[in-house]
Amino acid sequence: MKSEKSFQRYKTTKMEFGGTPGVTALIFMLPIIVYTINLACGKESCSITRLPKFPSFSYFFDMEATCIFFGWLAFQVVLSLLPVGQVIPGQLLNSGKRLMYRCNAFHALLISSAAFGLAVYCDVPLTIVYDKFYQILTAALVYSVFLSIALYFKSTLTADYNLAPGGNTGSIIYDFFVGHELNPRIGSLDLKIFFELRPGLIGWIMLNFVFVLKAYQDTGTLPPALAMVTAFQTLYIADILYFESHFLTTMDIMHDGFGYMLAFGDLVWVPFLYCLQTRYLLEHPRDLTWYAMCGIALLNFVGYYIFRSSNSEKNEFRKNPHDPKFDNYETIPTASGKKLLVSGWWGMVRKPNYLGDLCMALAWSLPCGLNAIPYFYPVYFLIFLVHRERRDSIECYKKYGSSWDRYCQRVKYKIFPYIY
Ligand code: NDP
Repeated sequence: MKSEKSFQRYKTTKMEFGGTPGVTALIFMLPIIVYTINLACGKESCSITRLPKFPSFSYFFDMEATCIFFGWLAFQVVLSLLPVGQVIPGQLLNSGKRLMYRCNAFHALLISSAAFGLAVYCDVPLTIVYDKFYQILTAALVYSVFLSIALYFKSTLTADYNLAPGGNTGSIIYDFFVGHELNPRIGSLDLKIFFELRPGLIGWIMLNFVFVLKAYQDTGTLPPALAMVTAFQTLYIADILYFESHFLTTMDIMHDGFGYMLAFGDLVWVPFLYCLQTRYLLEHPRDLTWYAMCGIALLNFVGYYIFRSSNSEKNEFRKNPHDPKFDNYETIPTASGKKLLVSGWWGMVRKPNYLGDLCMALAWSLPCGLNAIPYFYPVYFLIFLVHRERRDSIECYKKYGSSWDRYCQRVKYKIFPYIY
């Protein structure tokens, strides 16, 4: 095992996202994008050709909305500390240590959904969340900024070997953005995985539930397109949370620190932008023919099948490469002892899981018809995953050198067979 001393000299030499100037621009631009897109797609009109009207500054601040946000956060903290779910070891870290994780995010989703149902039954005015959408968004944004500043200060007090491989450049702004400390914790609460999986992802589903409830209260019916997209997105999140242990091997956990990028992404970007399609379908209800709905559902389930089976294939292989089910799989050995799969999904394209994810992203927007704004998610997600594939490929090259080159020669296409 590597000694802790040998990690103290560890420094990140290569910056991503355009380095310090790039991340400085992103820190300000990302919140502007969230507000602009949401305001551009309102009840009266949803159009990219008309500039959105920005209400007065004070409109975005509201005490009740702030209390709703912090109440939600506190509820999720309590659920994460419940002594249910397996405790499992994470991956071996740069420090030579493994952290232990209690996997109960799926339980948190079930309890949150049950609490939502109970609140509806008890006539709690849940649609206030829709009415105060922008004010809750603002509370989440302000909190994510303070959280990132606190995380940066905390990271300056930790040992060097706890710093993130990707966020230890010495540039305060860059490290603040990408995340300086890899896995900051308060007691047993792992802040990064908590914020990655709970308040934002479960919050996204709760926003969708609120939109469905609002539609039902306004019209007395459940609009089929809205219900369908809510069901698809709930399945997606339920799957991610059910397979929480798989998340421990992702780039987010192994490579990226916990800073502004993830804090803002988890609390603001994901819940308040990814619900764009469902909010659109609430405010602009559409009738879909049964065959259009069947076609969209087929695309979603094909995407889900590719996403789930490719992620499971790799995770099972990483967990136990000697499992007899991999006997007939072709692999490429690497100097680290790990092997790369060249059969199955990972022999078709280098990122079959991204392909599945993108099919689902498209299926969630198609029910919105031809309006461009609800397609923000698949378009942004495509750019995000192409960039993520490049980042991961660089990391894999660092890990596996010529074996990675051989893999790339064997598996020519990155995400889309015969296209890219
Ligand atoms: P991957 O799950 O693709 O993991 C990448 C790692 O897999 C590599 O670093 C390497 O790690 C291993 N690997 C790559 N190729 C092979 C191979 N041929 N054989 C064996 N192992 C291989 O990346 P992500 O963490 O980016 O994605 C996980 C899932 O999360 C995806 O489905 C993605 O679409 C989804 N996602 C969704 C987001 C959202 O906002 N909805 C955001 C980000 C991701 P090693 O060799 O060290 O095991």
